[in-house]
Amino acid sequence: MVEAARAASPIPVLLGIEADYYRGCERFLDTWTQKYPFDLVLGSVHFLNYWGKPGELRTLADADDPAVTWKLYFELISELADTRLYDIVAHIDLPKRFGNEIAETALREFALPALDRLAEAGMAIEINTSGLNHAPQEPYPGLNILTWACEREVGLTFGSDSHHPDRVGTGFDVALKLAADAGYKTSRHYHQREFTEQPLLAQGA
Ligand SMILES: [Zn+2]
Repeated sequence: MVEAARAASPIPVLLGIEADYYRGCERFLDTWTQKYPFDLVLGSVHFLNYWGKPGELRTLADADDPAVTWKLYFELISELADTRLYDIVAHIDLPKRFGNEIAETALREFALPALDRLAEAGMAIEINTSGLNHAPQEPYPGLNILTWACEREVGLTFGSDSHHPDRVGTGFDVALKLAADAGYKTSRHYHQREFTEQPLLAQGA
Protein backbone atom coordinates (compact mmCIF):
# COMPACT_ATOMS: atom_id res chain seq x y z
CA MET A 1 0.00 0.00 0.00
CA VAL A 2 2.80 2.41 0.86
CA GLU A 3 4.62 1.63 -2.36
CA ALA A 4 1.43 2.24 -4.36
CA ALA A 5 0.87 5.53 -2.53
CA ARG A 6 4.46 6.54 -3.20
CA ALA A 7 4.07 5.85 -6.91
CA ALA A 8 0.81 7.85 -7.11
CA SER A 9 1.68 10.77 -4.84
CA PRO A 10 3.01 14.15 -5.92
CA ILE A 11 4.62 14.51 -2.46
CA PRO A 12 7.27 12.18 -1.00
CA VAL A 13 5.83 9.20 0.85
CA LEU A 14 8.04 7.43 3.38
CA LEU A 15 7.78 3.97 4.88
CA GLY A 16 8.02 4.21 8.64
CA ILE A 17 6.91 2.36 11.71
CA GLU A 18 6.39 3.00 15.40
CA ALA A 19 7.67 -0.02 17.30
CA ASP A 20 7.33 -0.46 21.05
CA TYR A 21 10.47 -1.00 23.09
CA TYR A 22 10.19 -3.61 25.82
CA ARG A 23 12.88 -5.66 27.52
CA GLY A 24 13.72 -8.65 25.36
CA CYS A 25 12.40 -7.23 22.08
CA GLU A 26 15.85 -6.59 20.60
CA ARG A 27 16.52 -9.74 18.59
CA PHE A 28 13.03 -9.90 17.15
CA LEU A 29 13.02 -6.23 16.24
CA ASP A 30 16.50 -6.29 14.74
CA THR A 31 15.55 -9.16 12.43
CA TRP A 32 12.12 -7.86 11.60
CA THR A 33 13.01 -4.25 10.77
CA GLN A 34 15.71 -5.44 8.39
CA LYS A 35 13.16 -7.38 6.35
CA TYR A 36 11.51 -4.21 5.05
CA PRO A 37 12.94 -1.06 3.42
CA PHE A 38 12.00 1.34 6.22
CA ASP A 39 12.88 5.00 5.86
CA LEU A 40 12.53 5.53 9.60
CA VAL A 41 11.83 3.51 12.73
CA LEU A 42 10.26 5.28 15.68
CA GLY A 43 10.55 3.75 19.12
CA SER A 44 8.11 4.26 21.93
CA VAL A 45 7.23 3.04 25.40
CA HIS A 46 3.58 2.42 26.25
CA PHE A 47 4.00 -0.31 28.89
CA LEU A 48 6.00 -0.25 32.11
CA ASN A 49 6.11 -4.01 32.68
CA TYR A 50 5.54 -5.64 29.32
CA TRP A 51 6.09 -9.13 30.70
CA GLY A 52 3.71 -8.71 33.65
CA LYS A 53 1.49 -11.70 34.35
CA PRO A 54 -1.97 -11.59 32.74
CA GLY A 55 -3.99 -8.91 34.47
CA GLU A 56 -0.86 -7.15 35.76
CA LEU A 57 0.20 -5.31 32.61
CA ARG A 58 0.82 -1.69 33.61
CA THR A 59 0.35 1.06 31.05
CA LEU A 60 1.17 4.72 31.55
CA ALA A 61 -2.50 5.29 32.39
CA ASP A 62 -2.53 3.02 35.42
CA ALA A 63 -2.66 5.01 38.63
CA ASP A 64 0.64 4.99 40.45
CA ASP A 65 2.96 7.44 42.14
CA PRO A 66 3.77 9.80 39.23
CA ALA A 67 7.45 9.83 40.27
CA VAL A 68 7.56 6.02 39.99
CA THR A 69 5.91 6.11 36.57
CA TRP A 70 8.20 8.83 35.15
CA LYS A 71 11.38 7.29 36.59
CA LEU A 72 10.71 3.84 35.15
CA TYR A 73 9.44 5.31 31.89
CA PHE A 74 12.66 7.25 31.28
CA GLU A 75 14.78 4.26 32.32
CA LEU A 76 13.05 2.35 29.52
CA ILE A 77 13.67 5.23 27.09
CA SER A 78 17.39 5.05 27.99
CA GLU A 79 17.39 1.32 27.27
CA LEU A 80 15.57 1.99 23.99
CA ALA A 81 18.39 4.36 22.98
CA ASP A 82 21.04 1.80 23.91
CA THR A 83 19.59 -0.83 21.54
CA ARG A 84 20.61 1.32 18.54
CA LEU A 85 17.58 -0.15 16.72
CA TYR A 86 15.58 3.07 16.38
CA ASP A 87 15.99 6.43 14.67
CA ILE A 88 13.52 8.55 16.64
CA VAL A 89 11.65 8.44 19.96
CA ALA A 90 7.92 8.99 19.53
CA HIS A 91 5.98 11.24 21.97
CA ILE A 92 8.76 11.30 24.55
CA ASP A 93 6.68 12.71 27.42
CA LEU A 94 3.66 10.47 26.86
CA PRO A 95 3.02 9.87 30.60
CA LYS A 96 1.58 13.40 30.76
CA ARG A 97 -1.33 12.24 28.61
CA PHE A 98 -2.69 10.40 31.65
CA GLY A 99 -2.07 13.03 34.33
CA ASN A 100 1.07 11.93 36.20
CA GLU A 101 1.70 15.52 37.23
CA ILE A 102 5.17 16.06 38.57
CA ALA A 103 7.40 19.00 39.56
CA GLU A 104 9.73 20.19 36.81
CA THR A 105 12.80 19.54 38.97
CA ALA A 106 11.83 15.88 39.30
CA LEU A 107 10.96 15.60 35.61
CA ARG A 108 14.38 17.03 34.79
CA GLU A 109 16.13 14.56 37.09
CA PHE A 110 14.48 11.61 35.31
CA ALA A 111 14.54 12.97 31.74
CA LEU A 112 18.11 14.26 31.44
CA PRO A 113 19.90 10.90 31.65
CA ALA A 114 17.59 9.57 28.91
CA LEU A 115 18.21 12.60 26.69
CA ASP A 116 21.97 12.13 27.17
CA ARG A 117 21.67 8.53 26.02
CA LEU A 118 19.62 9.60 22.97
CA ALA A 119 22.31 12.11 22.07
CA GLU A 120 25.00 9.43 22.41
CA ALA A 121 22.96 7.18 20.11
CA GLY A 122 22.68 9.94 17.49
CA MET A 123 18.90 9.74 17.70
CA ALA A 124 16.13 12.28 17.27
CA ILE A 125 12.88 12.99 19.08
CA GLU A 126 9.72 14.20 17.39
CA ILE A 127 7.31 16.99 18.10
CA ASN A 128 4.13 14.96 17.99
CA THR A 129 1.08 17.16 17.58
CA SER A 130 -1.49 14.54 18.58
CA GLY A 131 -1.16 15.89 22.14
CA LEU A 132 -3.06 18.98 21.00
CA ASN A 133 -6.04 16.68 20.59
CA HIS A 134 -5.50 14.80 23.86
CA ALA A 135 -5.94 15.89 27.49
CA PRO A 136 -2.62 17.83 27.69
CA GLN A 137 -3.73 20.07 24.76
CA GLU A 138 -0.10 20.65 23.83
CA PRO A 139 2.29 18.66 21.66
CA TYR A 140 4.56 15.92 22.99
CA PRO A 141 7.01 16.96 24.31
CA GLY A 142 6.45 20.25 26.11
CA LEU A 143 8.86 23.15 25.93
CA ASN A 144 10.92 22.02 28.93
CA ILE A 145 11.98 18.63 27.55
CA LEU A 146 12.35 20.04 24.05
CA THR A 147 14.74 22.71 25.33
CA TRP A 148 16.82 20.15 27.26
CA ALA A 149 16.95 17.99 24.12
CA CYS A 150 18.06 20.92 21.96
CA GLU A 151 20.84 21.74 24.46
CA ARG A 152 22.13 18.18 23.99
CA GLU A 153 21.85 18.31 20.19
CA VAL A 154 19.28 15.54 20.09
CA GLY A 155 17.80 15.68 16.56
CA LEU A 156 14.26 16.77 15.80
CA THR A 157 11.48 15.57 13.51
CA PHE A 158 7.78 16.43 13.21
CA GLY A 159 4.85 14.06 13.32
CA SER A 160 1.10 14.28 13.73
CA ASP A 161 0.49 10.65 14.80
CA SER A 162 -2.68 11.27 12.87
CA HIS A 163 -4.37 7.86 12.90
CA HIS A 164 -6.46 9.28 10.03
CA PRO A 165 -5.58 11.01 6.72
CA ASP A 166 -7.64 14.10 7.67
CA ARG A 167 -5.35 14.84 10.57
CA VAL A 168 -1.97 14.61 8.80
CA GLY A 169 0.00 17.76 9.56
CA THR A 170 -2.44 19.06 12.18
CA GLY A 171 -0.93 21.72 14.41
CA PHE A 172 2.38 22.00 12.58
CA ASP A 173 2.24 25.80 12.95
CA VAL A 174 2.22 25.28 16.73
CA ALA A 175 5.00 22.68 16.43
CA LEU A 176 7.26 24.96 14.37
CA LYS A 177 6.91 27.76 16.91
CA LEU A 178 7.62 25.34 19.76
CA ALA A 179 10.77 24.08 18.00
CA ALA A 180 12.03 27.63 17.51
CA ASP A 181 11.21 28.56 21.13
CA ALA A 182 13.24 25.57 22.32
CA GLY A 183 16.24 26.76 20.29
CA TYR A 184 16.07 24.40 17.32
CA LYS A 185 17.30 25.84 14.01
CA THR A 186 17.03 22.65 11.94
CA SER A 187 15.10 19.43 11.79
CA ARG A 188 15.93 16.07 10.33
CA HIS A 189 14.52 14.47 7.20
CA TYR A 190 14.94 10.69 7.17
CA HIS A 191 15.28 8.58 4.04
CA GLN A 192 16.37 4.93 4.05
CA ARG A 193 17.34 5.35 7.71
CA GLU A 194 19.81 8.15 7.00
CA PHE A 195 19.04 11.77 7.72
CA THR A 196 19.81 15.25 6.46
CA GLU A 197 19.36 18.43 8.49
CA GLN A 198 17.08 21.06 6.97
CA PRO A 199 16.57 24.64 8.20
CA LEU A 200 13.32 25.10 10.12
CA LEU A 201 12.28 28.29 8.38
CA ALA A 202 12.32 26.75 4.92
CA GLN A 203 9.77 24.21 6.08
CA GLY A 204 7.43 26.88 7.36
CA ALA A 205 7.51 28.70 4.03
ZN1 LIG B 1 2.44 5.76 20.39
